Amino acid sequence: MAEPFPLAPSLWHATAPAAAPTPPLAADASADVCVIGAGYAGLSTALHLAEAGVSVIVLETHEPGWGGSGRNGGQVIPGIKYDPSEIAAKFGPAAGEALTRFVSTTADLVFDLIARHGMDVPHKRTGWIQGAHTPAMLETVKRRAGEWQARGVDAEYLDSDSVARLLGTERYLGGWIDRRAGGVQPLAYARGLAKAALKAGATIHGGSPVVSLKRQGETWIVRTAQGASVTAPRVVVATNGYTGDLIPKLRQTVIRPNTFIVATEPLSDNIAGTILPEDQVTSDTRQLLLYFRKDHTNRLLMGGRGPFREPKDASDWAHLERVIGKMYPQAKGIGFDFRWCGRVALTRDFLPHLHEPEPGLLVDIGCMGRGVGLQSAMGKAMAEYLASGDKSRLPFPVVPIKPLPLHALNELYVSAIITWYRLTDGGMKDKAA
Ligand SMILES: Cc1cc2nc3c(=O)[nH]c(=O)nc-3n(C[C@H](O)[C@H](O)[C@H](O)COP(=O)(O)OP(=O)(O)OC[C@H]3O[C@@H](n4cnc5c(N)ncnc54)[C@H](O)[C@@H]3O)c2cc1C
Repeated sequence: MAEPFPLAPSLWHATAPAAAPTPPLAADASADVCVIGAGYAGLSTALHLAEAGVSVIVLETHEPGWGGSGRNGGQVIPGIKYDPSEIAAKFGPAAGEALTRFVSTTADLVFDLIARHGMDVPHKRTGWIQGAHTPAMLETVKRRAGEWQARGVDAEYLDSDSVARLLGTERYLGGWIDRRAGGVQPLAYARGLAKAALKAGATIHGGSPVVSLKRQGETWIVRTAQGASVTAPRVVVATNGYTGDLIPKLRQTVIRPNTFIVATEPLSDNIAGTILPEDQVTSDTRQLLLYFRKDHTNRLLMGGRGPFREPKDASDWAHLERVIGKMYPQAKGIGFDFRWCGRVALTRDFLPHLHEPEPGLLVDIGCMGRGVGLQSAMGKAMAEYLASGDKSRLPFPVVPIKPLPLHALNELYVSAIITWYRLTDGGMKDKAA
């Protein structure tokens, strides 16, 4: 298994409050539900189950937040890749409306959980700006802002002057702002969820990789590498971008590219005042998008594509450092304190997938760029389903596990696509990437 934070610890690792103790599973145990994976999905499932009085044990290979949940950009953005009209066209009017309502509230859930449990999580709810990099994408974001506005959401189309003022760069043609969104320290939030789940009565074991899953009559035996096991009638698999081979063919349903982030040294107040002066979080409309923000230590973070493989050295982040110099010339020459990366799990339709391959075994996989809110909400929904037995609590249909055809070739294909988009993604004003 690769080291959690190659080269250097991530910014989040360096600035998060201490984790609650989650010692490895040392002896056999049993519970109503066993959750595998302690990211937002697994931890939110555990928290909401424990609050509903259902006994739950979480098993995690490393520690809570080790995966995408402790490495991401910390942008809490509601919604999914698709706009409400596209969701209605894909799922039909009634199911589409229910799904749109679900995805609309995912950021609310994160900020509510932080407040309700008094989590020690640096956060700001100042909105998300999506900058358009081509005239065609400008039309798309105009329509997108209109669709959400028509649903009563605090969203607004931004012309080129407004977007330049809010982002502090003239590299975008315009954009839109969604004020439901905001930024968090993502590892602090994962650790906050773990603490809240423990307080509600859940048990969490770090350092406990699950190596086998066996059904015995009505129960599952979930065995860890140490040899101890958890017996439970129901199991939730929430391993996402770090999914291995526990469940046949599951890993082959997703492509798991790395996404890379750099963080500068803290900006001086003078420079910080010229970059995202109102502290929104932001990403753009490129296929290989750039996502950037300032954090609670006044560092500028820039995230984006990188090699599909694990990084070799600092040169694998150099393109993101160059983007900062081009987008914000006033920050040119600034030092970089942190470089890190993590894996996302891309499904073919860019939606999370729910599977129930055998009775009592529930799988949530698919982690795109909205996972802070979406996976927190998926965990809550899965807990409601498990506690009530009511499948309508699940926001997405439960579908069969369907490996991508020629999975290995697909991974090569994605590497090629990354190269292709890198060459073609530049917009009218912006050749920075
Ligand atoms: C670099 C990066 C930037 C991102 N930026 C954003 C962003 O700004 N905003 C946003 O909304 N989303 C972002 N995302 C996506 C978001 O982080 C994820 O969608 C989300 O964290 C997924 O949560 P999860 O709980 O499903 O999975 P994870 O957090 O990945 O957790 C899965 C866990 O399962 C564990 N595991 C795997 N196998 C086993 C096993 N056999 N036994 C026990 N444990 C196991 C792993 O160790 C891991 O801790 C980003 C992702 C990355 C990688």
